[in-house]
Parts: sequence; C-alpha cells; structure tokens
Amino acid sequence: MFSTDFKTTEELPEPSPRLIDQVIGQDEAVKIIVSAVKNKRNVILLGEPGVGKSMIVKAVGEIISDFGEFKPYYIIAKPNLKNMERPIVEVIDGEYKEEHKEMPKLDFKTPNSTTLILIMIGAILISEYLLKFLPQQYLLAAVSIASLIVLIFGFVIILTSIMGASRTSMAGNINPSDLKPVLLYECKKRPLVRASAYNVTRLLGDIKHCPLGGRPPLGTPPHKRIILGAIHEAHRGILYVDEIKTMPLDVQDYILTALQDKQLPISGRNPNSSGATVETNPIPCDFILIMSGNMDDVYNLRAPLLDRIDYKIVLKNKMDNTLENRDKLLQFIVQEIKNNNLNPMTYDGCCEVVRIAEYLAGSKDKLTLRLRLLANIIKMANDVAMGKEVEELLGNFDEKGNYNPETQKDKKNKVYITAEHVRKVFDTGIYSMEKQVALNYIKNFKRYKHIVPNDTPKVGVVYGLAVIGSGGIGDVTKIIVQILDSKNPGTHLLNISGDIAKHSITLASALSKKLVSEKKLPLPEKDIDLTNKEIYIQFSQSYSKIDGDSATAAVCLAIISALLEIPLKQDFAITGSLDLSGNVLAIGGVNEKIEAARRYGFKRVIIPEANMIDVIETEGIEIIPVKTLDEIVPLVFDLSSIKKDNKKEEKSEEVAKA
Ligand code: ADP
Repeated sequence: MFSTDFKTTEELPEPSPRLIDQVIGQDEAVKIIVSAVKNKRNVILLGEPGVGKSMIVKAVGEIISDFGEFKPYYIIAKPNLKNMERPIVEVIDGEYKEEHKEMPKLDFKTPNSTTLILIMIGAILISEYLLKFLPQQYLLAAVSIASLIVLIFGFVIILTSIMGASRTSMAGNINPSDLKPVLLYECKKRPLVRASAYNVTRLLGDIKHCPLGGRPPLGTPPHKRIILGAIHEAHRGILYVDEIKTMPLDVQDYILTALQDKQLPISGRNPNSSGATVETNPIPCDFILIMSGNMDDVYNLRAPLLDRIDYKIVLKNKMDNTLENRDKLLQFIVQEIKNNNLNPMTYDGCCEVVRIAEYLAGSKDKLTLRLRLLANIIKMANDVAMGKEVEELLGNFDEKGNYNPETQKDKKNKVYITAEHVRKVFDTGIYSMEKQVALNYIKNFKRYKHIVPNDTPKVGVVYGLAVIGSGGIGDVTKIIVQILDSKNPGTHLLNISGDIAKHSITLASALSKKLVSEKKLPLPEKDIDLTNKEIYIQFSQSYSKIDGDSATAAVCLAIISALLEIPLKQDFAITGSLDLSGNVLAIGGVNEKIEAARRYGFKRVIIPEANMIDVIETEGIEIIPVKTLDEIVPLVFDLSSIKKDNKKEEKSEEVAKA
C-alpha cells in the first residue's frame, strides 16, 4: 500500500513547515504559478472546491519575499485645503516615522503685505526727492499726488490684512489635529492580500459616511474617512481574489482599469452617504492578480478582464493511484493530523483513507484530490475516535452534577484513529448533505420498491442501476417494457426526464428493433411486424431524476425480451451505455452501482468492460464485464422455458400425429 511499513502515523516523519511542500498532487500548477509570480504575470486558478486553490496561493505568499528586492512603502492621506472633498493620498517609499505626521502649511493666497510696505516706503522716498529738486510751483501738486499714493496703499494694506485675518479665522475653525496626515497602510514586505470578489469595499476601498457632514464646520475630514482597498494594499505584491463567480461586472471594470493604469482613485461607493462626494487622487496599485473559482465561474468574467490574465490554470481533481501518490496521500494524512492537532492514525486507518480516496475519485485506478473533503472525513473520524472519551467524560460527573476529572488522569490508553472510525464516517455520510439525502431516500423507499432479486425469469423486466443525485449512492431501478399492437406505432417513455436518458432510450429502441428484425441474435427467431408495435418503457418507482445513458443496455434487453417474448433472468442488474453498433460503452459511478446491486442482494452485476479498471470492491457479487450486446444476450435470456415450450409443442404434435 505504502513504501514504508508502520503501525501508526506517529512513526512517520513530521510534515515540512513550508506550506508549498505540503501541497499534494498539483505540482504542475505550483510550478507555473511560482514562475508566473516571479515574472509578474496574472493568473487564474480553476478547479473543483477543496483541491487546494487557496492553499497554493497562500503557499506562494509565504515565499514571495524571495522573489527579488522589495521597496517598502507607506501610504498616507492628507487634507486638500483647496478642496476638502478631494483628499490627497500618497504612496511614499521607505519606512514610516512619526515625524511624517507634520501639519501641512496653511497656504492661503493673501496679498503680500511686505511688498505693499516696500512700495509705500518707495513712494515716500520719491516724494522727498521731488520736494528737494522740483520747482516751487509743482511742489503742491507733487505733495498731493504723493499723499494720494500713500493713502491708496494704506487703504489696500488695511483691507488685505482684514481679509487675511478673516481667512485665518476661517481656518481656525478646523481642529488642527484634523489637518494632520493619517497613515493608511504600511508595507514592509511584499504583500499577498486576499479579498472575496463580492466584497466591493474591501476590494476597491471606500469613503466612510461622516455623520456630522457639511463644510465648514467640518465633522471628520474626508482624508480621515478613507478606507484603502485591497488593490492598493497589494501594491508591489499579489492581490488574490477568490469566489470570482460573485464579482459584479462594474467591479471587474475597476479591476481592469487598475491593472491597466496601475493606479485607481477611491471614491465613496454609497450614493446615500456623505462619502459619495469625496474622491481621492488616483492611488498607485501595481499588483499581480491571482483569481480563483470553479470551472464554470470563468464565464462570469468579462472578456477584456479575462484577456488580461496570462495564465489560466486548471487544477486536477484526481491523481493516478500509484505507490508514489499513495505515499503523498499518507503525507497529507500526517499534515492534517499535525495541522489540526488530531490523534494519530493506525496503518489500517490510513489504508481506509486511501480506499475512500479511490471511491471519491470514482475509480480503483485514481485517488481523489478533493482533499478538503478527505481532510473533513479524517477530522470527523478523529471525533468518532474521541467519542468514547466524550462518553467517559460525561461519565465523570457525579450524581450532584459535579465534574470529577480523576478518572481522566488515570487514562492510560492513547486514542488512535482506526479504519473502523474512518469507515463509520464514510458509510454514514455525515460529511456530505447529498449523501445523507440519498441514504435517507434509499432507507425510506427500499421497502416499498418491488425489487425481487433472483426471482423467476420475466418477459420485458430488467434491473438497471443509477446513482442518486450527486450523493455518491447507487440504486436499483426496475425497468419494465410492454408492447402493444397499435395503429400508432412508436416508443413512449414513462418516468424519464433528462434529455440524455430520452436519447439513449430512442437509441435502445432503434437498436433492439434492428436486431430483432435482422434475426442475428443468438435467440430463437420470430417473425414480427414492427410497423404496428407501440412500445411503453417504464422506469418503475424511480423517484429520483434519472438522466444519463447508463440504462441503454438494460432497456435494449427489455425491449428485445418483450418483442420476442423471451423471459429475462432476474438474478442480475446491469449498467452500460450502447452505441448503434451494439458496443457496450463505459459509464460513470460504477462503484456506487455495483454497491447498490450488492445491497439489494443480486447474484450478478453486468458492467462495461471499460469500467473494470475503476472497480474497487469485488467481494460479495459476481462482476461480469462485457464489450458487446451479443456477449450479454446468452447470459441473461432464459431459454429453458422456450425449449420446454418447444418440447411441449413437439410432444403435442407427436401426440396429434399418433
Ligand atoms: P480550494 O481553495 O480549492 O477550495 P483550499 O485550498 O481552501 O481549497 O483547501 C482546503 C484545505 O484542504 C486545505 O487547507 C488543506 O487542508 C486541504 N487541501 C486541499 N487541497 C490540498 C492539496 N492539494 N494538498 C494538500 N492539502 C490540500
């Protein structure tokens, strides 16, 4: 099973402290992301939930400091005294120090009184000069002109000083501390900033509402109400946006602008708030964008944004079931135990986790990489293992309800997670809502279902197999075919909803008619006029929605049986798709389907040969792989009754002759 032999996980080496070494099964993706980030490329990670998208980004975040030099910086916001609604945000290189908190100088444009005084002195000097050198007759005129100049300048000085005073007193209404710049963010090492796509404020920043409002007097000045966005905090680092499905279209446009311009202003986002009138200058935001989501989520992204993403990486959801990968899964178990402080696991417990990884991958040949699910199962198995302890703990209360921990101290037995605990979690399906719903469905309906395995052969009745919903539980479906002579020939489907199922049954109907009319089947021949046959196909008591083509082979057999009136044995269930040439094609959920046949007590289950590689558990039922419909026919039709009938006929003919 594994390359090392061990009794419990305690004997195995400690997991690496570096998160990047803990990522299992996504080596390719990790390599590409590391190189993308090194080269400042944008990336989108797509994949099923719980395959490690966030983990990989977090792991890259741990090592980005190693990717070249980083210039630390800090971001401050200052009031803009010319226009308070347009606060100034600056990104400044270096480390932030207290002295950066200086008050900005009040820069009111008052007329320059020094100049005026100089002009006045000049005017007086000129007057003196005139007094000395001008002839008497001009003197009076000159003195009057000089005193007029002095008067005018004096008036201007008085007026401007009054204006200046009033402006200064206006500024005096502002609390001086409100004029201080504020530190919005300080970044000392290359940042990795995570934000969910739906959280617009977190992503792009906002301006808080000011309850006092109005200007002047001011309440909280706008520069103190700025909320920096994740795009700004990610400057010179990585912005990681998850849940891309939820990203509003206008936010996508903003992110696109930020990527292109490498700067974006912050403005108030709520139109009903006083913040709405405030907008900062464009703030630098030069970041690498990493986004993640499920495969389909990508269709929610606008094409121009998607175009800006250089690497589009799809994470794997399965890996090959090799010794090397089983060892990796073992490493994963050890990591989960360490990271979540769980009890150690026995060797058998680890083998059981591998078996579940096969089940969840749908194949013996593969191991699931939906590791969050597997991690949850391990954690719950730990809880089950601790269950006994919980009972013991509850037993430690005396009659008066006082807790007596004495017995706990005496506890010598160490708790281990065993195969039994792991299996219990898997079988009860407590890790999955869908599985529980499916289990309840089976529990509730099995007793009402008219499924009688190994019954006497019947014409037009066959047992097909299905998987209920997405719960990973299989079920047996009884398929009944009735054929009537009618003036309206055709095929009618009952209880069948999905398009794929409908098409597959049309195919089964066409193929069975062809085979019957060509008389090439290894069955007694019969002349049938197919032009007046009305075929009814019922998926009896099938309460869950059936879609897919895995019942094609079953339906085909039931129609042939009904047309030729040859009974089908009832000791088998069958799953398999068909092509028009009668080849049996692979289906999904083979393990769940075999499990269902086993649960109902069938002796045999017929499956496509191509699915044999997927089969995990072969115990308790005969599994018959088939490649073509021809191979199935001799296995399932009961010719004994026909031979008997023929013999009877022969006998009666002989009797008649005699
Ligand atoms: P996603 O973002 O794809 O939904 P996460 O990265 O949040 O998945 O994975 C959740 C948890 O599952 C991780 O914290 C880790 O415990 C486990 N896990 C998922 N994928 C991996 C992986 N590839 N290698 C190791 N552990 C994993």
